[in-house]
Formats: sequence, structure tokens, C-alpha cells
Amino acid sequence: MAEKTIFQKIADREIPADIIYEDDQCLCFRDIAPQAPVHLLLVPKKLITRIGETETSDQSLLGHLLSRIRFISEQEGLSADGFRVVINNGKHGGEAVPHLHLHLLAGRQLVWPPG
Ligand code: AMP
Repeated sequence: MAEKTIFQKIADREIPADIIYEDDQCLCFRDIAPQAPVHLLLVPKKLITRIGETETSDQSLLGHLLSRIRFISEQEGLSADGFRVVINNGKHGGEAVPHLHLHLLAGRQLVWPPG
């Protein structure tokens, strides 16, 4: 069996994380190296390696992840000032962990274009 990703280990409570939301399909926890005052990671429990390698059968799970952003941003009080959602894909995208995750960044003015 393939080695679990670091995010599967967090979901399975094998390594600690500050989990702020969880349901049967996904969990959301604070990034260990925050790039903004609020930096959350929303991760599907099912291993999808990256957004560029999804299957048609992942459609409902992908929709679920996007729909959870509203719930989590309201729960964390981020709606008024706004936030950014980022998905890094592959080498040029800056992906470090090969397990799909949505970054939710907030709490300061974010610049565009990103670095
Ligand atoms: P990416 O570069 O898009 O693959 O992002 C991976 C993110 O995972 C980075 O922002 C890391 O800081 C974060 N990360 C790595 N290990 C952990 C961990 N154990 N707990 C929380 N966040 C982590």
C-alpha cells in the first residue's frame, strides 16, 4: 500500500493539526507555515493527487470542497474583508504536497499578480 500523504496522516489523527472544520468528505486545518494572518488548508479525505489529475467521478467532491469555502469563511469571520482561494498544481504551480488542497488566505491585503 502506498505511503499516506501528510494530509491523510492529519485526517487519520496520526500527526497533529489545528482542525477547524471536518465532515465525512473533507477537513480544514491551519497551515503550519502561514503566509497570511489566516491561512487554512481544505483537503478532501479521498486522495486526489492534484487538481490537474481529477476524474469525472470526483465532480461531486470537488463541488463539495468549493461549497464549503462559504461555510468556513463565515465560520471564521472572513466574509466582510474578503479572502483568496489558491490551488497550486505541479512544479511551476508551487505544489509541495501531492494531495489536493485549497489554500484559504485572509487577514491582510493580498497582492496581484502573486509571486
Ligand atoms: P502546496 O505548496 O500548495 O503543496 O502547499 C502545501 C502546504 O502544506 C504548505 O503551505 C505547507 O506549509 C503546508 N503544510 C505542510 N505540512 C503541514 C502540516 N503538518 N500541517 C499543516 N500544514 C502543513
